[in-house]
Amino acid sequence: MTSVPSLPALDFPEFAPGSVWLVGAGPGDPGLLSLLAVHALAHADVVVYDALVDRRILAFARPQAVLDYAGKRGGKPSPQQPDITDRLIRLARDGRRVLRLKGGDPFVFGRGGEEALALAAAGIPFRIVPGITAAVAGLAYAGIPATHRDTNSAIALVTGHASDGEVPDGLDWPALAQGAPVLVLYMALKHLAAIAERLMAGGRAADEPVAVVSKATTDDQRVLETTLGRAAADVAAARIEPPAIVVIGEVVRLRARLVAAMAPSRPRG
Ligand code: SAH
Repeated sequence: MTSVPSLPALDFPEFAPGSVWLVGAGPGDPGLLSLLAVHALAHADVVVYDALVDRRILAFARPQAVLDYAGKRGGKPSPQQPDITDRLIRLARDGRRVLRLKGGDPFVFGRGGEEALALAAAGIPFRIVPGITAAVAGLAYAGIPATHRDTNSAIALVTGHASDGEVPDGLDWPALAQGAPVLVLYMALKHLAAIAERLMAGGRAADEPVAVVSKATTDDQRVLETTLGRAAADVAAARIEPPAIVVIGEVVRLRARLVAAMAPSRPRG
């Protein structure tokens, strides 16, 4: 085990009482936190965190900080988004330093935009600290380049789950099939069969390579390689669990040449 030497003094912005910082915690591995996120954890009075935030990251909070869970709790429905934004506003008006900690990046499928809009409307000062989003981190830890000169000059991040819980039909699936050589799907396990159908109907080949990266960057990370035609059945057979990202595209083939030589993401045992 090696530990990080003490960090050089940086000119971090002040975490002012009465303000909210919307901070991305990254996908799991605490090593992927930004220095600004660590700074925010060291100064927050209250940390309002989501289900996808790794416990080891909360350990960076100062001991006096109140840790306030805003995700689903043991079968109970998750708090409604307006309840969470009201809580952030109330805590800030009470003069707290409020850290809103979200998995990945707060502005990528994280409802950070809604929370920031509510804070702006309420006149609460806030700051956004980006985090490493699951698509970027999951591909990296699985040994799949997100872009590669020989295969793709574009990548699309897509949600597989509309706000009503269905396949997002507001999306132009044929256009995505034609225009995005690499697609990374968030929240897509449930509707994977239907999504694959739409992409194949739009012209993607059934034997196009697909990788599913579940619990990326955590000790429980799993990577399943499959094809577009078989993806849904293989995910079910392998009992892949959420959270997972699904990457569709030729870049998946590069994994075979990279993964054997890659250092393990986390020291084992
Ligand atoms: N704001 C987050 C995304 C939240 S939506 C971000 O930027 O990453 C929740 C979805 O993110 C999950 O359904 C899954 O698709 C993806 N996700 C989050 N953490 C993940 C992880 N550690 N491994 C794989 N996928 C993850």
